[in-house]
Amino acid sequence: MTLLKNIQMEGTPALEKALAGEELSFKDGIELINEENLFLLGAAADKVRKDLKGNAVSFVASYYLNYTNICVASCPLCAFYRKDSESDSYTLTIEQIVTRAGIAINQMGATELHIVGGFHPKLGIDYYEDMIRALKTDFPDVTIKALTPAEIFYIARLTRNSVKEVLLRLKGAGLDALPGGGAEIFSPEARDIIVRGKCSGDEWLDTAYQAHTLGIKSNCTMLFGHIEKPEHIIDHILKIRELHKKTKGFTTFIPLKFSLDNTELERTEAISRESPATYDLRVIAVARLLLARTLNNISVYWVALGKKLAQVALSYGGNDMVGTAFSEEIFKAAGKNSGTSIQELSSLIKEIKRDPVQRDTFFNIIKRFT
Ligand code: SF4
Repeated sequence: MTLLKNIQMEGTPALEKALAGEELSFKDGIELINEENLFLLGAAADKVRKDLKGNAVSFVASYYLNYTNICVASCPLCAFYRKDSESDSYTLTIEQIVTRAGIAINQMGATELHIVGGFHPKLGIDYYEDMIRALKTDFPDVTIKALTPAEIFYIARLTRNSVKEVLLRLKGAGLDALPGGGAEIFSPEARDIIVRGKCSGDEWLDTAYQAHTLGIKSNCTMLFGHIEKPEHIIDHILKIRELHKKTKGFTTFIPLKFSLDNTELERTEAISRESPATYDLRVIAVARLLLARTLNNISVYWVALGKKLAQVALSYGGNDMVGTAFSEEIFKAAGKNSGTSIQELSSLIKEIKRDPVQRDTFFNIIKRFT
């Protein structure tokens, strides 16, 4: 029996619409996330992925630089942040950053520097400009993807500049793209419980919008598997879809599975366990179907999912594995082991009979693996 026949017999009308290539509404999204038959949902997402992106699975060779863990915010979801006075707080100097980047680029083959950190109350905008300029001077070919919209918004507030001024100054120093973190979940009903001291969902979206209109592309994320409800997931994905229609500025959508260990949400027992794999796959499949033909890259983040579940997620709508994430610290603080190589990512993709492709930050192909 064909997939379409199966869907007509057993699935929701929204699945049929998705296969027919129709744009899905909020109501459709709710139907999809509540679809009883996960395998049917996954098969539809996999078919749409295959039609739009073929057999390739891409990734970027990326080095993570977490320049400081000092943060004035104190998000209950976060295991990474420290207060200035804590003994294991740190802030990297520009020299340390350049040295680490040099090792990543020259010895590990990184083509992208993914630079994020806490909301440091004493770092002026010149710290970020000097960092980016120093990196661009020594490594002119590397892509600098630095500072999430949440960090940009914070720096603007701290330094009493507009978001636009901050973005223009950093772009002038050599900033190429923004990472998409800090989006978490846009709906205040959930957001106000899992974050504390961070920009609102609307402020995140507006900062991304301003970056895109200045020619700075970004990825976008959504943190799931905490206290959110189905409607928050659908609302978040549709807001991303609407912004991307306006700006075409997102490179990929990355659903991030929440990691519980060492967070306030764990300590206060607000959440007792991480989401089941079936839920994770459901969210990824729904993202693929809702974003189809608007934002066609759906990334599975193996650091949070684990490598084996990431392989499965590539059959539930994913077409990208984000990257090597050399030296990732944020999920490591929440108990996730990070670390892989270009070779290992390529092998993981080959094991599931897909075609590994090394890409750059903007999804241009750098290398195919035979
Ligand atoms: S999630 Fe970001 S803003 Fe929130 S406490 Fe952690 S580092 Fe700070």
